[in-house]
Amino acid sequence: MEVVHAVVTIGVLVVVFGAERVSAAFPLPTGANDGGLARWGRNTILAVLVLTVTFVVLVPAKHWAVEHQLWEWPHRLPVGLTAVATIVVLDLVDYGYHRAAHVTALWRFHQVHHLDEAYDSTTTLRIHPVDMCLGGLAHLPVVFLLGLPIEGIVAYTAVFFPVAVFHHTNLRLPARGLRALSTVLVTPPYHMTHHEQSVADTNSNYASILTVWDRVFGSDNPARRDAGWRMGVDYSRDRSWRGLLALPFARTQQYSTDVRDRQRPNLSTAEVPRKHPTT
Ligand SMILES: [Zn+2]
Repeated sequence: MEVVHAVVTIGVLVVVFGAERVSAAFPLPTGANDGGLARWGRNTILAVLVLTVTFVVLVPAKHWAVEHQLWEWPHRLPVGLTAVATIVVLDLVDYGYHRAAHVTALWRFHQVHHLDEAYDSTTTLRIHPVDMCLGGLAHLPVVFLLGLPIEGIVAYTAVFFPVAVFHHTNLRLPARGLRALSTVLVTPPYHMTHHEQSVADTNSNYASILTVWDRVFGSDNPARRDAGWRMGVDYSRDRSWRGLLALPFARTQQYSTDVRDRQRPNLSTAEVPRKHPTT
């Protein structure tokens, strides 16, 4: 089943990547002259490494957790209810891990995803392998303690990857429909805010599937990307794939090691979206 998920994810990525070259919502690097080929190359290498750790570490670890659960999920519950419950619970865990990755030393790894200065489908799996492992392993205590069944985990995986590809797409899509959808689901405009380079925007809109978590935990940011926004982080340019893999282990970090500095200032839905320089 995991192989099916991987094949579907890669297939969706290839189709969306092609569509983005035809109808991008925001300009993308197009070739060797502006770093487009180099970026696609490093994003692809990281994606291959992420898929490798998924199959070598995360899939066996999840099967182990399912086989050694504390108690058995009530099998008389309808499969649909089991699937929805598992998706909601694991999505909440993802929210917690993602937020922690922004305001603790985990940022050393998670910054690799955010150093991408462009935003498209190839950003989806541009993740440090350690970040991928830790995020996946964060599911295990919950799977173990709640006895989440394999059917639920399969349903979560089947939803998570397509939604992750979807919200990293840079496609021209109907704005009104996306606005309505973002009341429930993480959409590209919603997640682009999370990839804007200022700490205030980066440390907001953490949700992966359901946007309700940002509203419940006060990290919802209504600002939306315009032509002047810059993707990435405000303290560094992007690096080679080797530089990205080594970055978390560098003795000195360019960002402040005081995690309080990376905590988001209070944002409220009443806040006026920030103005961004256009040059
Ligand atoms: Zn993030």
